[in-house]
Order: sequence, then C-alpha cells, then structure tokens
Amino acid sequence: MPLPLVVAVAPLSPADRGGLEPGDEILALNGRRPRDVIEWQLAVDDPEVELLVHRGGLQLDLRVEKRVGEPFGAEVDAALFDQVRTCDNHCDFCFIYQLPPGLRNSLYVKDDDYRLSFLYGNFTTLTRFTEADLERVVTERLGPLYVSIHATDPDVRARMLRNRRGATSLRWLRALLDHRIEVHGQVVVCPGVNDGPVLDDTLGGILDEYPELATVCVVPLGVSRHSDKASLRAHTAADAVAVVDLVERWQCVFSSTLGRRVAFAADEYYLLAGRRFPEQDAYEGFPQHENGVGMARTFEDELFGDACEPTGPRSGFFAWVDGAPADGYRARRADPGPSGNGSGSHRAATAIITGEYGGEVLAPLVERLGVASVRVLPVRNEFFGGNIAVTGLLVGEDIARALVREPEGDRYLLPDVCLSKGEFLDGRRPADLPRPVEVVATNGVSLRRALGLS
Ligand code: SF4
Repeated sequence: MPLPLVVAVAPLSPADRGGLEPGDEILALNGRRPRDVIEWQLAVDDPEVELLVHRGGLQLDLRVEKRVGEPFGAEVDAALFDQVRTCDNHCDFCFIYQLPPGLRNSLYVKDDDYRLSFLYGNFTTLTRFTEADLERVVTERLGPLYVSIHATDPDVRARMLRNRRGATSLRWLRALLDHRIEVHGQVVVCPGVNDGPVLDDTLGGILDEYPELATVCVVPLGVSRHSDKASLRAHTAADAVAVVDLVERWQCVFSSTLGRRVAFAADEYYLLAGRRFPEQDAYEGFPQHENGVGMARTFEDELFGDACEPTGPRSGFFAWVDGAPADGYRARRADPGPSGNGSGSHRAATAIITGEYGGEVLAPLVERLGVASVRVLPVRNEFFGGNIAVTGLLVGEDIARALVREPEGDRYLLPDVCLSKGEFLDGRRPADLPRPVEVVATNGVSLRRALGLS
C-alpha cells in the first residue's frame, strides 16, 4: 500500500509547528497507517497527533499538538492511500466505454468505491459493498452517500449493470437507510430499457422499499459517437416529455405521502422537452444541484442578483474538510484570471463560451440583461458527438474550432467547468486556444461580476 505523502504544510499551522514537512511520507498516524483521507482526517482532528514519518531515508517521530477546532494544516497527495475499488459492472450506457482512445488514463478508471461516494459525491452501485464496509460507514457516519439505482426491479437492474449482483445489491441501500445514513439516488434513463413503465415501477419501488431515500435524480443517458452499442439511443423530445410528466406525477405522490418531492428530473429533460424549468421552491434546496438538477434555475437567480452566493457543490466530505487533497471538487479547475494573452479589460464585445445546452439556457437570459455587447457562443461538441451537449464535456479542440471563426480583440469568457487542473478533457489548455480567454467560475454570480454588472 503506498504511503500517504505530505504535499503542503500551512505556515505556522500545528503541522508546521510540529515539524511536518512537504515530502514526508506517513508511516503511521496515532500508531496506525491510514487507509484513506477519511481516516487521516479523523486522526488529525485529535488534539494530540503522533506521527511516524519517513524523510530522506530516516524515520522520525513527530508530535503535533493543537487547540480544539484548530485545523491541522497539512495536505496529502491522494484521497485513497490503498487501492480504489473498481467497478465490476459492464453497463452498456457507461460513459467510460464511450470515450475515445488516447485520453489521460485516469479518465478510464471505473470506480465503484463508497469512499469516493462519501468524499466526492460519486455514485456507487453497491455491487462490491461488504458487511465490513457497512460497519465502517455506520461507525464513522460516512454520509451522505450516492447510489446508482437505475431500476428497483432486480432483473432489470442486473441486466442494466450486466452483473448478477445488481439484482441483490440494493439490499445494502436498505441496510444503509436502516442505519439512518443519508443516501441520495440516481436513475440513468435509457430509452426502451428503463423508461416508461419501468421508471414508473422504479419510483413506486422507491416509495415502497426505500422511503427514507433523501432524493433521486432522474438523468438522461448520454450517447457519444464512440458508443458501439446498438441498443443505446438518445432521448427524443417526446421521450423527455414523458419522463418529465412521470417524474412530476410522482413528485405529487411523494409529497402527499412523505411530505417531500424526492424525485427530480435533470435540467436536460426540461430543455429537451421544451418545458419551463420549475420554480426555485420546487427544488427543495437543490440537493442534486451538482448532478444537473436545478442548475439552470440557480444560474438565472444568480445572474440577476436574486442570489448573492453561488450554489456550489454540496455533497462530499471534501467540501469542508481541512487536510484533504486538492482533488475532485476541491481540485482547482483553472488558475484564476485571464489565460492566454487576455488582459481581462473590458472591450467592446464579450462572448460567453458554452455548450449547446448552456446556449439554450443562457441565450434568453443574456437577452434579458439587455447588454447589446454581450453574446453567447454555443459550441457543438464534435469530440464526443452524439447527444453530448453539456458545457462540462466541451474540449479544447471544439472550442478552438469555434473561436477561430470569431473576431480577434473581443473578450471570451470560458466557464471553468470545462477544465480540471487547468486542462480540457482532451489535454489542451486555455493558452492553446486561438483567442485569449478569461476563465470564469461556472455560476451566475461570477458571470455577473465578469460582465461588470455588480
Ligand atoms: S457502474 Fe458506473 S462505472 Fe461501472 S460500468 Fe456501470 S456506469 Fe460504468
């Protein structure tokens, strides 16, 4: 098992005062080798922390003392120090099977690890979950967790996951709920497979068997042009209308039975169905915001100044812990400020780069702003192709193709959701684009500020 490696120590923090240095490898923390950053965090929360570290061929004993509530002040290099638990399912709809070859290796890892669910909000099918995992989750209260349901019918679920354990692994969901762990679910809808009566049955199954489930998001299948599964097809507008109607019908049932809506259809469905997004109240606090439920509604409120703070990722332990690695939600999407040759100064015209779905959401909002010099620049995703139109999957190659046709000298605003650690999915960087761009956080508050409206 690789050793946790210290990558940053905050000056004057307890870790610094105790002598910990970047580059130290942790052999033991309070007498044990931590398996992951969850164990690390629990240990460094103690007022006295004993460390055995490996530094320059030597072993050193360090002792760190801290005041109650004081952050430890050190960052380690990974979330999991042992191995990530990979997924043993073979879902036809898996987006990893639909990626083109040649991307960075980490993009091809199929994880199904409850710890990444807790840490980053990743969805797990629970097909590799064990009694020991349950015990740890319950003992350490590792919630909320995020579970891929897809169908409550055991046969349909096993067929969709292409794993016979898919038929029975939702027993772990029942066990988690029995132990009062907060769980949110997801249904990826594949037309002709788990829509229509199957989706109806699934939402009914949630009410009957898992009524404590906090929420379930209903999201459409993405089909890239690299998919070789003839059984997969993208939703039509009529499919989307049917899903929205069904989910909203079930929201009424859940509301009258449980006092909350529970099921939420993704924004993509409303766009595809040509329906207005529900009002803010209907999202009940946006618990599935980062999964594409209610983003358009919060963006509008933020852009027009009705919300002062952006609605950020809320799931995942990394949203709040000290000492967690800068990864997942905590990973910087990009260096702040202008990239390429951009000066950030206000020029005559500003274009907001976005995906095709983002274009549909933004175009009417920008029109309402009434600033003639601001335009929306929707970019078609040729890299993935198919029905992939979300902004987060835009790559440098497609943006470059769009920008080269645009005038030089305009301002180009690039939403940071396209980037991870400063790179697009295809490995390009903003500085590689043919026009300078300014990277802006993907929310209405930041866009409003970037446009000089507040
Ligand atoms: S469970 Fe998730 S990662 Fe695993 S094959 Fe299915 S979609 Fe892919």
